[in-house]
Amino acid sequence: MGYKIPSEVKNILDKFTKEKFQIYIVGGAVRDLLLGREVKDWDFTTDAKPEEILKIFSDGFLDRRSQKGSTFGEPFYDNKFGTVGVKTNLGIFEITTMRKEGLYKDHRHPLEVGWTNKIEQDLARRDFTVNAIALGKHLRGEVLAIIDPFDGQNDIKEKIIRAVEDPNIRFQEDALRLIRAIRFAAQLGFEIDPKTFAAIKQNADLIKTVSPDRVRDELFKLLSSDNAYEGIVNLRESGILPVILPELEACFGIVQEGPKHARVYDIGKHSLLALKHTPFTDPLVRFASLLHDIGKVKTVKTDGSGNVTFYNHEFVGGKIVLEIAKRFNLSKTQTDKLYRLIRWHMFSVSEDQTDSAVRRFIKNVGLENVSDMMAVRVGDRLGGGTATETSWRIEKYKDRIKEVLKKPFSIADLKINGADVMKTLNIKPGPMVGEILQKLFAEVLEDASKNNREYLMEKISDPTFLPTKPTKP
Ligand code: ATP
Ligand code: MG
Repeated sequence: MGYKIPSEVKNILDKFTKEKFQIYIVGGAVRDLLLGREVKDWDFTTDAKPEEILKIFSDGFLDRRSQKGSTFGEPFYDNKFGTVGVKTNLGIFEITTMRKEGLYKDHRHPLEVGWTNKIEQDLARRDFTVNAIALGKHLRGEVLAIIDPFDGQNDIKEKIIRAVEDPNIRFQEDALRLIRAIRFAAQLGFEIDPKTFAAIKQNADLIKTVSPDRVRDELFKLLSSDNAYEGIVNLRESGILPVILPELEACFGIVQEGPKHARVYDIGKHSLLALKHTPFTDPLVRFASLLHDIGKVKTVKTDGSGNVTFYNHEFVGGKIVLEIAKRFNLSKTQTDKLYRLIRWHMFSVSEDQTDSAVRRFIKNVGLENVSDMMAVRVGDRLGGGTATETSWRIEKYKDRIKEVLKKPFSIADLKINGADVMKTLNIKPGPMVGEILQKLFAEVLEDASKNNREYLMEKISDPTFLPTKPTKP
C-alpha cells in the first residue's frame, strides 16, 4: 500500500498478527498519514488484552498514569485505559486494548469501559470522524486495510471536522471535545461541520466542567497553530471564549476614538489581529499578544476634548493577566514571562534613548524575553493597521540593545566583586578594593569579552596588575 509506514510500526503490526491478534494504527496517526502530514505519535489498538500485549513485549510497561511502581496483577485491572507503552526509536508507542464505552459522568469520564473485539465499536467512541479511522489487519495474513465506518476519509478530503454520530451527545459525554474540535480545525485548516458547530454552541457552557489544565493545553495547541486567529474567532463564535477568557471577551466593543484617534478596530478585534500578526509560534508569546491590551477595559476614559484614553492599561493588564495565569495553572516561569510581556508592552523603540533607558527596558522585560517582546510589538503594530515604519524601527532598536549589551553596565555588573578581591588578596575593605575594581572595569569597558570570571580572577592574582602593594591585615 502507499502509506509511509516506518519499519518500527510494521514491526508492531507483524508481532501482533503473528500471535493472531487484530492490530490497527488509530487516531491522529492515520489522519496525518492520509493527510500526508508528519505523524507525531503512533497509537495502536488491538483485541489483545493488556496482559497479552505485555507478553508480546518483554519490554512493554503499563501506562505510567496508573502504574505507580507496580507490575502486574491487581493495580493493572484498575487501569481502565489498559494502555501499554512500548519504547521505540520513534518515541513511545501506545497500544490500547479496543474498548467500547458506556455512560459518562460529569461530562468528562466514562462510567464504564468494556473491552471489545470489534474495531468499529472502538472507533465509535472516538471524537471526530477524521480521528475515527483505523489502518490495520483484521487477521493474520490480511493486507493493511482502512476501516472507516464514519466516512472520515471523505471529511479529510473535504477538510471538515465532524463529530462521530450525534454531536450533542458526544459533547455532553465529554466537554473537552468542545475545544478539541476548534483546536483540530485550527491545526489542520479545516472547517467545522455546521451541525457539529451548532452543538458546540449549544453546549459551550459545559467547558466549565473541564479541568483548566486540559483547556490550557488545547488553547495553547490552538494558539501555536497556523490558524490561531481563526481558532480564537471560532472559540468566540461558539461561546466558549466568554467562559474561558471573559476578560478578552470584554474587549469587544471598546473603541479608541476622538479627535486625536482614528482607530479602525475595537480592542477585541485589535487583540485578535495582533495575535494573527505575531511572527513567533510560541503559544505563550501569542497568548501575550492576544492579551496585551486586556487592561483597557478597566482604564477606558474620555478626556475633556472627547478623546478616549487608557492610562496605565499596561499596569492594570499585568494584574489581570496574573489572575488569568493562575486560573490556567501556568508555571512560575510562564506566568513571569506573560506578565512582563504585558506589563512592559508600551516600551518606546526610539533608537536615541540613553544607555540607561535601554538598560532599564532590558531589566524590566528580562533579557531572555526581549525578542519575544519585539514579536508582541510587531503583532501590536501590524494588528493596528499602522505598520510600514515598524520593522526598521524595531530593527534599529534591536541594534541599540545589542550595542548596550556589549558594554558592562557598571562596576556592579563585573563578573567578580569586592568580596572576591578581598578574599583573593587577603585585604580588608578600603579604597584599595575600589581601585582594583575600577581598573578591571576600565579594561572591560575596552573589551567586553574580558568580563568573565576566570579572566578577572586571574587578573587580580597578577601582582603586576595591582595599583599599589596591598597591605596585609
Ligand atoms: P494530536 O496528538 O496530533 O493532537 P490526536 O488525534 O493523536 O492528535 P490525541 O489526543 O493524541 O489526538 O488522541 C488520540 C486519539 O484518541 C484521537 O485521534 C481520538 O481518536 C481519540 N481521542 C482522544 N481524546 C478523545 C476524546 N476526548 N474523546 C474521544 N476520542 C478521543
Ligand atoms: Mg496523538
